[in-house]
Amino acid sequence: MIEKNIYKIISKYDSIILARHIGPDPDAIASQIALRDSIRLTFPKKKVSAVGVGVSRFKYIGSLDKLDGIKEEESLLIVLDVPNIWRVDVPNFDKYKEVIKIDHHPYEDQMGKCEWVDTNYSSTCEMITDLIFNTKLKMNEEIARNLYVGIVTDSDRFLLTTTSSHTLLVCSKLINDYNINLTEIYNHIYQRPLNEFKFQAYLALNMSVTENGFAYIKITNEMIKEFNVDSGTASNMVNNFNFIKDYVAWAFVSYDERQELYKVNIRSRGPVINEIATKYHGGGHKYASGARISNEEDVDKLFKELDDACKKYNEEAL
Ligand code: AMP
Repeated sequence: MIEKNIYKIISKYDSIILARHIGPDPDAIASQIALRDSIRLTFPKKKVSAVGVGVSRFKYIGSLDKLDGIKEEESLLIVLDVPNIWRVDVPNFDKYKEVIKIDHHPYEDQMGKCEWVDTNYSSTCEMITDLIFNTKLKMNEEIARNLYVGIVTDSDRFLLTTTSSHTLLVCSKLINDYNINLTEIYNHIYQRPLNEFKFQAYLALNMSVTENGFAYIKITNEMIKEFNVDSGTASNMVNNFNFIKDYVAWAFVSYDERQELYKVNIRSRGPVINEIATKYHGGGHKYASGARISNEEDVDKLFKELDDACKKYNEEAL
C-alpha cells in the first residue's frame, strides 16, 4: 500500500520539508500544515518545516516555517498538490536527498521514486487524511480541522464531480472523531466583506458571453481599485459562476503587475480545458484550470481556443 511506503520513508528522515504550489489555495496550504503537524506529533524529534510564500487570507489555517539552516542533501522533500516542478514553491528542488509527491492533479513531471498521484481524490487533503488514517501517523483536532478545510474548499462544498462516497466517508469520520466546529470553519472560509460581494455582482453584470456559451472578463487594475479588493479576489470567485445555464466555460483574466503576467482562471461544464491551458503556460484539472500569459494577444488566442472548444462541445451534444 502506497500510504505504508510513504510512512516508511518519512520515518527514515530526521529533516523533512513540505512544499506545495506557488499561489497556494487552502488545499495546498492545509495539506502542507496538516501533514507537518501530524509528522511532528508522531515523531517529536524530527525537524519538520512547511515552506513557501504565505497568504494572509489563509493565516487561520496555521503558520508556515522559514527555510533557515536546511541541509537539502540530508533532507526529505514532500511535494503536495502540484504536478509540475516549475510550480513547486521551494528553492533548490534538485538538491534534496529524496522527493515524495502526493497530488490529485493529472500527472505531469516525475519528481521522485515515490509518487502517489490519484485524480479520483477531491483534494490533496483527502489523500493526507487517508495517509494518516491508514498508517501510524497521528491526528488531533487541529489537524482534522485543517484537512476538512482543504477538502471542503477544493471540492467546492462537495459540489465538484471529484466528490465521492469516500470523500464524504472521511469527512464524516473527521467530524465525528475530532469534534470539528463547522460554523467556525465556514465563517473563516465564506465570510467576506460587502465590497467583494459588490465586485462579484460587477463581474456578473459585465462578463461577455459568446454565442457558444464562453463567458469572459478582463479585470483591469482600475476595477480592482474601484472596488477596493485585492488582486487575487477574482480568482477566488471563479467557482461562484458555476451552474449558470448560459455558460459552458468561463474565464477571468487579471494582470499581475509585479510579475508582469496575465493570470487566467478557467472553468468549464462542457469541454475539457486543461489541455488548452497547458499550451499557455498553464494546466490544472479537466474542468478547472489556470494559465499565465505574458502578452494580451495570447490571452485573446486562448479565449478563441476556449470559444472553439465550447462550439465543438455544443455541436457534439446535439
Ligand atoms: P485556479 O483557477 O487558480 O483555482 O486554478 C485551477 C486549477 O488549475 C488548480 O488545480 C491549479 O493548480 C491549476 N493551475 C492554475 N494556474 C496554473 C498554471 N499556470 N499552470 C498549471 N496549473 C495551473
